[in-house]
Amino acid sequence: MQDYTDLSSIKADLDAGKLSLPDLVEHYVARIEQRTHLNIFLEVWKEEAKARAEAIQSKIKDGTAGRLAGAVIAVKDNICITGHKVTASSKILEGFESIYSATAIERLLAEDAILIGRCNCDEFAMGSSNENSAYGIVRNPLDENRVPGGSSGGSAAAVAAGMCLMALGSDTGGSIRQPASFCGLVGLKPTYGRISRYGLIAYASSFDQIGPLSRSIEDSILLYEIMAGRDIMDGTTSSKKVEPFQGAGEKPFKIAYLQECMESEGMTPSVKQAFEEQVRKLEAAGHTVEAVPFPLLESIIPAYYILTTAEASSNLARFDGIHYGYRSEEAKDINSTYVLSRSEAFGEEVKRRILLGTFVLSAGYYDAYYTKAQKLRRLVKEKTEEILSDYDLIMTPSTPTVAFALDSVKDPISMYLQDIFTVQANLTGLPAISLPLATADDGMPLGIQFLAKAFHEDVLFDIAERTMQH
Ligand code: GLN
Repeated sequence: MQDYTDLSSIKADLDAGKLSLPDLVEHYVARIEQRTHLNIFLEVWKEEAKARAEAIQSKIKDGTAGRLAGAVIAVKDNICITGHKVTASSKILEGFESIYSATAIERLLAEDAILIGRCNCDEFAMGSSNENSAYGIVRNPLDENRVPGGSSGGSAAAVAAGMCLMALGSDTGGSIRQPASFCGLVGLKPTYGRISRYGLIAYASSFDQIGPLSRSIEDSILLYEIMAGRDIMDGTTSSKKVEPFQGAGEKPFKIAYLQECMESEGMTPSVKQAFEEQVRKLEAAGHTVEAVPFPLLESIIPAYYILTTAEASSNLARFDGIHYGYRSEEAKDINSTYVLSRSEAFGEEVKRRILLGTFVLSAGYYDAYYTKAQKLRRLVKEKTEEILSDYDLIMTPSTPTVAFALDSVKDPISMYLQDIFTVQANLTGLPAISLPLATADDGMPLGIQFLAKAFHEDVLFDIAERTMQH
């Protein structure tokens, strides 16, 4: 069977009777089974997907199928689906089954999507390489000795390996865009409040968003439009209407790139060169591309890690050995149930962040760290919005390096610096997309990131459609 890279070609073949949906599911399952050593899927819902494929195939015949008929989708293991296991790749949720589905999932199912399985990720979405999972590392299908990125590493790898058409990830500081960059995909982080977080296991609630990973921009747009919009189960969702994307315009864009980005220490010469080439291409296509100063760049990683760990320390308090999943066998009373269960079942990175978050929220240090980081968040938002009052888009490489070798980034600070270009969108709540536009000199893909004004996903889709055609 051919490798389908977008839903419209699947639909065309389904309609023409050249393809059957149960066969398509078989094909994806076979792909998954061929490369289990990549450790992408924690669970494959083979029988359920096949049964749904049969049912949707009849709907297609009757002309009653939804907009996602033909779309086989993988789900990050931190998004809840009724009656299915969900662990956030943590031992602490081992065996836990969800009693409700995320709103985003409900909306996909209502349009006849088929869910093929749940994907490995960094534990509680904390990481940039998918090396922090309690269920083992994920390998990058494009080069098995490299990481796929994180934390939605399994989701990106599944799409890149042709094990499904698209996947859902979550993005708190880059976890959709960074793996998209490492695996050569489109990855979208919508505006904060655009897609419901109901049913997404919380990491840092004022940053988290669910979003799509796909090969084609059209598929990302479709998933976004179906999942977006007000949900009474998540009070932070916006009631602003979701307008269907009208297609790319003609007017050239005014694009800013951040001066300090280009001087960023961690950026490899090859990434810099690939980025500069994209700037020239955009200029050649008639857009204006200009450097603007953004002196706050060096503060965004510290601000992000103080605020997200603070939120995580609170969010993860619920995993106490009583309510969900794992309980220590040595526990004797309430105190030892908490202490032992949490000590035994949280991984090293998660513990580091809970400790750091608890520290920055403690009475003696609250003002020095947490309040200061909140002030920085405000400044970053103001400065970014000021740039966007003059420019349609801000452009950066999605990542300072291409996918790195497994086990090569050992200290946490270097790993945190991976997020230098992506966290700005989460600190500000603005929408951003990583597009597979560039290739570094070692042949690995590199994403180019665009960031737009709040609720201006259409501008991201517009630049995507124009650039991805070249
Ligand atoms: N790499 C970042 C972190 O570890 C981003 C994670 C995410 O977006 N979930 O926090």
